[in-house]
Order: sequence, then C-alpha cells, then structure tokens
Amino acid sequence: MKIDINDLKNKLDIMVPDPKCELIYNKDYELLIAVMLSAQCTDKRVNIVTKELFKKYTLNDLSNIDIKILEKEIHSLGSYTKKAIYTKEIATRLLKDYNGHVPNNREYLEALPGVGHKTANVVLAELFNVPTMAVDTHVTRVANRLTLVKNTNDVNEIENNLMKLFTKDEYNRVNHQLLLLGRYTCTAKNPKCSSCLIDCPNKKAD
Ligand code: SF4
Repeated sequence: MKIDINDLKNKLDIMVPDPKCELIYNKDYELLIAVMLSAQCTDKRVNIVTKELFKKYTLNDLSNIDIKILEKEIHSLGSYTKKAIYTKEIATRLLKDYNGHVPNNREYLEALPGVGHKTANVVLAELFNVPTMAVDTHVTRVANRLTLVKNTNDVNEIENNLMKLFTKDEYNRVNHQLLLLGRYTCTAKNPKCSSCLIDCPNKKAD
C-alpha cells in the first residue's frame, strides 16, 4: 500500500490542526538555547528548567556564569556538563558576534557548540520562517511507519525524502505535524492506531 500524500496532509490537518513548537521562549536566544538543551530530553522538562533559568539570568549573566552554578541549574536535563559549557559558549558568541541576537545564518548557527543541522533547522524555521525539515526521533519513526521513507534511520536521507514529497511552503507545517503526531499518537511504544485517522500501511488492529 502506497500512502496518498494529499490524503495524509488532509488527515494531518484534522489531527494536528494547530501545529506549534512546544518549547516556551520569549527571546530569540532563549529558543536557540532551549532547542540545544532539548537533545535527549523532553520539551516539557526543558520548559520547566528554562522558565527558571531565563528568569534568573540574562544572556550576559549566562556568558559570565560559573559553570558549576549553571550545571546545577540544568542538571535534570541529562548531559548537563556538556550542555552547561554549550550554553555559556553560545551566550558569549551571540553577544560578541550579533549583539545577543540569533542571526538568520545557517552556517553560523551550525558552527555553535551543541547546535547541529537539526537544531539550526528548528531555529531557522521558528524564528525566520525558513522552510526546513527538522528530523528528530519522532519524525524518523513516523516517516518510517507511514512509509514516507524506505526503512532508514539516516536523518539526512529522511530530510531529503520529505523535502521531495512536500512543497517548500508546506515544510514547516508538515514538519511540526509529523513531530507532534509522533509525540502524542504514533508513539514509540503502543502507537494509538485506533484513534489515528491516517490510512497507514502499519496501522495495528486493537
Ligand atoms: S496508524 Fe498507527 S502506526 Fe500508522 S501513523 Fe497512525 S499511529 Fe502511527
């Protein structure tokens, strides 16, 4: 069975009508740091930590912070020693290079510590509406189950395939929809197929 892309888009619009980034932020740099911190961690946990972090410290504070204090603030996120170093370095570089703002510059973002291609995609899409397909664990799983890709965990291959299947103006919306479908319905364990509207080749009977 081959999935019908137009039907998929319609079903996604019904199931995820208002797709949005679930990381909470008030400033551009808060989003960038939050996305970096979300590696191997849930958005929910990141939101709990960043709410306090950004209330207590400005970007300037973070660039000068004692690393041990920062580690303590973010310890519940996992990989916190690395993430503390990344946070401090990102704050320092943004202040030095862009007066504390996040630039619409993929090359610059991808060169920041802890910020890879996926994180840059999320930030560019969210802050500048650049059409991107950010492939995380949820998008990887859903793309495979929907047979939008051929049995692969290669994020570059998945990104390229998805970019061929949808038009540029659809990328950001569909990207969020696939991610949120994976987070809440097409979960890793026990996907909720009975409440999923999609005509999916991997639909499981109850
Ligand atoms: S039918 Fe099941 S496996 Fe297919 S996309 Fe929906 S939840 Fe995932």
